[in-house]
Amino acid sequence: MDAKFLIPEKRPKSSMDGDGERVRVTVRLRPPTKAEQRDDEGPFIFLDTDRNTVVLRRTGSFEAFTEFQFDGVLPSGCQQVDVYNTAARPVVLDVLQGYNGTIMAYGQTGAGKTYTLSDKLACGGMSVEGIIPRSAAEIFARAEQDNDNEYHVSMSYIQIYMEQIQDLLRPESCNMQIREGETGVYVSGIQEVEVKSAEDVMKLLLLGDRNRAFSFTKLNAHSSRSHAIVILTVERKAKNFSEPASEASDRPHSGSSAGFLEGERVLVGKLFLVDLAGSERLKKSGSEGIRASEAMSVNLSLTCLGKCIGARADPNATHVPFRDSKLTRLLQESLGGNAKTSLIINIAPCNDYLRESLSSLSFGSRAMKVATRAIVNVEEEFRVLTKNLQDTLEMQDERLQS
Ligand code: ADP
Ligand code: MG
Repeated sequence: MDAKFLIPEKRPKSSMDGDGERVRVTVRLRPPTKAEQRDDEGPFIFLDTDRNTVVLRRTGSFEAFTEFQFDGVLPSGCQQVDVYNTAARPVVLDVLQGYNGTIMAYGQTGAGKTYTLSDKLACGGMSVEGIIPRSAAEIFARAEQDNDNEYHVSMSYIQIYMEQIQDLLRPESCNMQIREGETGVYVSGIQEVEVKSAEDVMKLLLLGDRNRAFSFTKLNAHSSRSHAIVILTVERKAKNFSEPASEASDRPHSGSSAGFLEGERVLVGKLFLVDLAGSERLKKSGSEGIRASEAMSVNLSLTCLGKCIGARADPNATHVPFRDSKLTRLLQESLGGNAKTSLIINIAPCNDYLRESLSSLSFGSRAMKVATRAIVNVEEEFRVLTKNLQDTLEMQDERLQS
């Protein structure tokens, strides 16, 4: 392939660059709990999987129906593998080709975001693994089957709590800063740990979750008040080592405009897996003190996320307020920039939460209008990672035990 097709443009001008892709949105309805099953006011949420529509029935002084249409609609009986295939797999496959990808779960607390993304236990012999373990398994399985390329994969895990970024793989580092470099926005000093298997990813996920629970227990807080983001960076380079040096030097460089051989190009895809904080309403929860500050901080970032989506969806908007929250600043490329983005709207089948579901579905509906413009990212070399898995695990074990 000609090198010019592989060189990333810095800031493509047209928002409809590429083939007019946009954010893809899937709705997942959680199964009812025992208490919710006893709800005798009848169904309030109707899913039509053939037409990909969700209808909400609201009662009160009069009955009202609101219909939404999405890219995918998954009923409460759907399996984790269905969610992965619908909302995650296409993005993961693109990441293996050097595109950035984002898979993001949105919804009120208890709607099933963490279950959808992270769940990692086999339950009664049935696999309930969520999107993160399945994505990791797919990445390593494909890397193993690919005889033409070699791969380097690394993982980072952070959370945003009260507008501060904490590295969950190095939790003593809090309030980390976001910077902008050649290849986009990044967290300065973030731990990037090399992973060689899906099991390595799960070890780090577990470690990060323990650190997250540890810091929240100290604060007497709950993890639903923070956004958790796993970043998997997949680097891919053609294996061309068997080529004799004399032959290689006789042949003109296929990627001459880039100044390096085709085989030396490294395709770099970054996968963001985002478990957003719960989107509940402050008024309803009646929070006070630190809980109110947390809720305000969550609201600020989710409101800002909504505004950025709104601005991106509006062809006449001149300003997108990415800088108004850490979340949107970090996810800037995921919101209509250089990334393929899949949004999962988690809703609960509970009449008490109908207004929250309505608000989540409206959010998803707006996100469907956001055009994306992902391009293949190319670098010259594999990046040098300073952290290996064993050191990271040992250091943290000591910390958690002390
Ligand atoms: P959130 O992260 O949105 O706050 P959770 O993922 O923690 O919500 O889900 C709340 C509860 O519901 C958990 O006990 C979880 O195991 C359960 N749950 C969520 N989604 C499903 C599902 N699709 N099938 C079975 N249980 C689920
Ligand atoms: Mg959760």
